[in-house]
Amino acid sequence: MTQHILLFALPALVAIGLLEALFWRRLHGSAYPWGEGFASIGVAIGQAVKRILAGGIVLALFMAVWQIRPWTVPLDSVWGLALLMLAVEFVYYWHHRLHHRVRWFWATHAVHHSPNHLTFLTAVRLGWTSEISGGFLPFLVLPLLGFHPIGVFGALAVNLLYQFWIHTETVPRLGWLEYVLNTPSNHRVHHASNERYLDRNFGGMLVVFDRLFGTYAAEAAEEPCRYGLTTPLVSTNPVTIAFHEWGNMLRDVRRARGLRAKARMLFGPPGAPLETR
Ligand SMILES: [Zn+2]
Ligand SMILES: [Zn+2]
Repeated sequence: MTQHILLFALPALVAIGLLEALFWRRLHGSAYPWGEGFASIGVAIGQAVKRILAGGIVLALFMAVWQIRPWTVPLDSVWGLALLMLAVEFVYYWHHRLHHRVRWFWATHAVHHSPNHLTFLTAVRLGWTSEISGGFLPFLVLPLLGFHPIGVFGALAVNLLYQFWIHTETVPRLGWLEYVLNTPSNHRVHHASNERYLDRNFGGMLVVFDRLFGTYAAEAAEEPCRYGLTTPLVSTNPVTIAFHEWGNMLRDVRRARGLRAKARMLFGPPGAPLETR
């Protein structure tokens, strides 16, 4: 199950992240952002606890949907597994795009975008609140389409583990691979808050759906990526990091005048103008 694969992988991922920290000065000629790094580890530990607590409920929901599937995709065949990986990637793309375009979901996902440097430890800084927002719901379409929940969680774990290595500035552009795979260069663009890079490259392992649906942007030499949120977050407190955008959103809902304006603060895009009169 996803939660278990990712839990077992976490110590190794953190170890690689710390190794990067030790070589940072040699690679980048600057001091490693230790506060940010330890904050990411703290967020990752909180997320692991959340996975243990909520994993059973999510699995039960997936199993319930699986019961009403009209057919079963056999996962003991190569084509079945390939179809599963592609289906997970497709749903991941739309789920990720939704998390960037609707503030209710962005409140959870902003956590992953909050570091002001791109390091391996950014990869493990993931939100705690997708069970509150229902951010995992798009994946329910997969058991409905006949993919066994355990297979879905496994494929999602592979997809997320793949994404670990793309959180780095040290790997340059990789030639023709940039057309197919989500690479470090493509993901640098995703994490950048420069105007021209915002809301680009939503894929997990691939960029083909970004190219297909018009959300692809390539890293441009003349515009270096600036990482972090458009309003940078400086806190290194994991709890503050996990909930800060929920706080911002609820404050804006309170300030907005009229039901329509309030709804826009919840379900409009992040950064939508606040109407106070
Ligand atoms: Zn994102
Ligand atoms: Zn990322």
